[in-house]
Amino acid sequence: MLNIVLFGPPGAGKGTQSQMLVDTFSLHHLSTGDIFRFNIKHETELGKLAKSYIDQGNLVPDEVTINMLQAEVEKHPEAKGFIFDGFPRTTNQAVALDRFLESKGTSVGLMLALQVDEDELIKRLLLRGKDSGRADDSDESVIRNRIRVYNEQTAVAADFYAEQGKFHAINGVGNIDEIFNRLRSVIVEQSK
Ligand code: AMP
Repeated sequence: MLNIVLFGPPGAGKGTQSQMLVDTFSLHHLSTGDIFRFNIKHETELGKLAKSYIDQGNLVPDEVTINMLQAEVEKHPEAKGFIFDGFPRTTNQAVALDRFLESKGTSVGLMLALQVDEDELIKRLLLRGKDSGRADDSDESVIRNRIRVYNEQTAVAADFYAEQGKFHAINGVGNIDEIFNRLRSVIVEQSK
């Protein structure tokens, strides 16, 4: 089983690259952001709870997010492996994911961290906001808050994987295929 954490700030290209990785490596894509948006759209209790955090660019509390992620993994016993996109976003979440996967007899194999500078992120997110319909992509102050939250609460989770020798930094600037090839090379190399 191959489990990959695709890590990086908002706008780094995690969603786009996940789609390409799913097609190439036959993994199941789990994006916590997508799952929250699905719940918001369908006005579930989870969606109502998550909305206030997401609209302001803050993190949904760990307990809620971890429980949701675990339930999603449980729904796919047939999966050959998972791409975790946008999860973990705190060290707490990373620890919980490790414990959970261990209880299933598996683990995170690789953590791939897309690196993109802040000006480029803001440019990409504002552009995406024009047609994504995402409120959190349309307001520059919310975008800046998401990047601040990433720097203050999420970036540190990379250390957890670095300590395990699983962290790989990937240049996230360039065209989509170039970036994909960088990711693919690391996965192929590390899977040998
Ligand atoms: P994303 O689509 O990954 O950019 O996520 C959109 C928003 O969903 C984030 O700004 C957070 O408010 C929330 N979110 C997504 N994943 C997580 C997570 N792992 N922990 C907490 N909040 C999350």
